[in-house]
Amino acid sequence: MAKLQDAQVDMYEQLPVPYGLVRFGVAPDHPEVKNCQEKFEEVAESPRFTYIGNVKIGADVHLADLKPHYDAILFSYGASEDRRLGIPGEDLKGVYSAREFVGWYNGLPEFQHLAPNLEAGEQAVVIGQGNVALDVARILLTPPDKLRHTDITEQALETLSRSRIRSVNIVGRRGPLQASFTVKELRELMKIDDVAFAPIDRAFYPSELRKLPRVQKRIGEVLLRGTPISDEAQKRQWALDFLMAPVSIESSNDSDHLRSITFKKQAFTPDADPLSPSASVIQTEDKTILPAALAFRSIGYKASDIPGLADLGVPFDHKRGILPNDPSGRLMIPHKGPGTLTAGYVPGLYCAGWVKRGPTGVIASTMEDAFTSADVIVKDWQSGMPFLNTEQGESASTGKGWDGVKDIVTSKGVRPVSWKDWQRIDTAERERGKRIGKEREKFGTIGEMLKVLDA
Ligand SMILES: Cc1cc2nc3c(=O)[nH]c(=O)nc-3n(C[C@H](O)[C@H](O)[C@H](O)COP(=O)(O)OP(=O)(O)OC[C@H]3O[C@@H](n4cnc5c(N)ncnc54)[C@H](O)[C@@H]3O)c2cc1C
Repeated sequence: MAKLQDAQVDMYEQLPVPYGLVRFGVAPDHPEVKNCQEKFEEVAESPRFTYIGNVKIGADVHLADLKPHYDAILFSYGASEDRRLGIPGEDLKGVYSAREFVGWYNGLPEFQHLAPNLEAGEQAVVIGQGNVALDVARILLTPPDKLRHTDITEQALETLSRSRIRSVNIVGRRGPLQASFTVKELRELMKIDDVAFAPIDRAFYPSELRKLPRVQKRIGEVLLRGTPISDEAQKRQWALDFLMAPVSIESSNDSDHLRSITFKKQAFTPDADPLSPSASVIQTEDKTILPAALAFRSIGYKASDIPGLADLGVPFDHKRGILPNDPSGRLMIPHKGPGTLTAGYVPGLYCAGWVKRGPTGVIASTMEDAFTSADVIVKDWQSGMPFLNTEQGESASTGKGWDGVKDIVTSKGVRPVSWKDWQRIDTAERERGKRIGKEREKFGTIGEMLKVLDA
């Protein structure tokens, strides 16, 4: 909007509330990360911006109904599915995806009925070694009193305060130099009171750590130091287990609740450099069994198709779980026409965020990426590239935007939520929080959110 002075932007969001994973993914004890919401608020103040919450594209309104009213559509609907392990026992009771557990403690309506059983035993296993896995472990091991003033839901706090979990193993297929967690998240886990971490095997690292790249060196120093604790009686612990791939999840004979996870040891391939971040591994026949009362698979999020995309000429890339795009964010028809990229553009369609680059990257990198996509829209517009409804070089869009779509949505009984509406929900959540000494207490259902607007 800053670069095209006449541009109007409508933003559709399936939930009444904005912010996506910043609200429902980022851990409650990372409030500073959520400051990026201020940037969002700044944009929302513009009279040329319209927020349309509680409207799901592809369900409440079809893309074909949007198309006539816009010159361009940018998809940034994130990655709202999770990858599965594809092993026997994955659906046993007590096995959760990190996505549903994170959504549950952060108040995502979809998962408020999860009711994770944290009293089933003392040992939890997290499969996957990214920052989300570390978030899950940290929430399980942090004394609930330390989370009490964050925006974690009261329901989650209450369940966590009854948790019997004392030990969390975070397991990965490769070694520490290939793991994707970052040093900040690692240090946070190391600092939780009365939670021990045994130093990892020295053999993973070269004799001189200083020869490693800076980031790897810092991670190595933390992992090799470990965290002893003073009070053994209070002891809870966590561990990182490397070179292990899960092959099955087992239950006890008389129950459908998990009891253990069987892993096969992995080994670096003979030609791999174990110090390289891209070192590959092969499976051996050696087995390890970890007892587990709870398991979380944390092997990544995945974007999915939106109904109607194909009709706009966009083939969703199911294999990579992204919308096919050139690196600047223009949607592409892959492999169409040899050589020139322009042959494969879908005019007026763009993407940004995790649906563009895949489910990796922090908010800063996602923002950078979004700026690139916005810049290319401006560039295409200024250079006269064809857009969604271009006919004979002129825009034939109605230019109505949301005004052209509103009746279709409301005729289905859907109640759209404006930015002012969201501000009322926000105020109500903050008031609920204030009464119990928290920054906010989120509403856990869409019904509760909308009820605020009826008052
Ligand atoms: C558990 C977790 C913790 C994280 N912690 C951090 C952290 O501490 N620091 C950090 O920098 N980054 C963190 N990240 C990464 C950060 O959250 C992402 O980089 C960023 O949120 C991705 O933005 P996005 O817009 O692509 O997707 P999202 O944030 O997921 O936004 C997509 C939005 O699209 C909406 N939507 C989906 N489908 C439709 C539809 N059909 N119609 C209308 N709306 C739709 C969704 O409801 C959602 O609001 C974390 C991620 C996760 C998963």
